[in-house]
Amino acid sequence: MSLVEIKNLTVQYPDVKALDDVSFTVNQGDFLGIIGPNGAGKSTLFDVMLNLNTKYQGTLKFFGEDIRKSKKYLKEIGYVPQKPIFEKNFPATVNDVVRMGLRKESDENKIDKILQQLWIHELSNRRIGELSGGQLQRVFIAKALVNNPKILILDEPVTGIDQQSIELFYSILRELNSKQKITIIWSSHDLDAVNKLANHVACLNRTLFFHGMSEKFFSDDKLVKQYSEASMQEHMHHH
Ligand code: ADP
Repeated sequence: MSLVEIKNLTVQYPDVKALDDVSFTVNQGDFLGIIGPNGAGKSTLFDVMLNLNTKYQGTLKFFGEDIRKSKKYLKEIGYVPQKPIFEKNFPATVNDVVRMGLRKESDENKIDKILQQLWIHELSNRRIGELSGGQLQRVFIAKALVNNPKILILDEPVTGIDQQSIELFYSILRELNSKQKITIIWSSHDLDAVNKLANHVACLNRTLFFHGMSEKFFSDDKLVKQYSEASMQEHMHHH
């Protein structure tokens, strides 16, 4: 059974069709990289998957159930947003932030365990405003993982983070996927990183123009070129 099944998904905003007839599936244990230029519809896709946007056409199934009928699946998803939702000087410690992710209170062991796993245990009592970008990112991953979700969704997560933290972040993702069998859906602009980490690629630019094994995408010069040209057009459009 597919963990996620997306069929003929279309999202029409007043001025723009953000997603046009997108279909793909994600299986247990997949590490899916979603690539696409700015404005390609990646965040829109995540909004629909997280039930934040219900104005879509098409169907979405999680664990075989239509999300219009059942919201049970939501507890199986951990989500790391592109931008942390807190202000830098929000007076909370690392421990506080991760605790906010907990569904049941008083699960100290879970918090300790996840802080250790993400190499932020020693920062537990530090204010989040004192952390580097990379440390803060790991705090939000810990918050997303503290309820042991089966699926982790990450939106474009490495902007403004130093190289060493990016490497640590990638090794953490790899371990979550290979050792803990967490299914990962990750949007990224970094083609090299997607090539190295993900076993599946979805290439989105309002329509889905490729979905399959990452070897297949990266060994096909025509597809890579098509992706680069779409990104370049979008770039020129913005400048
Ligand atoms: P990405 O995450 O790939 O950059 P988005 O999903 O944010 O793409 O945006 C896709 C398109 O939809 C863009 O043209 C964007 O301006 C538009 N868009 C995104 N969110 C909204 C919204 N809430 N209302 C109207 N238009 C939106």
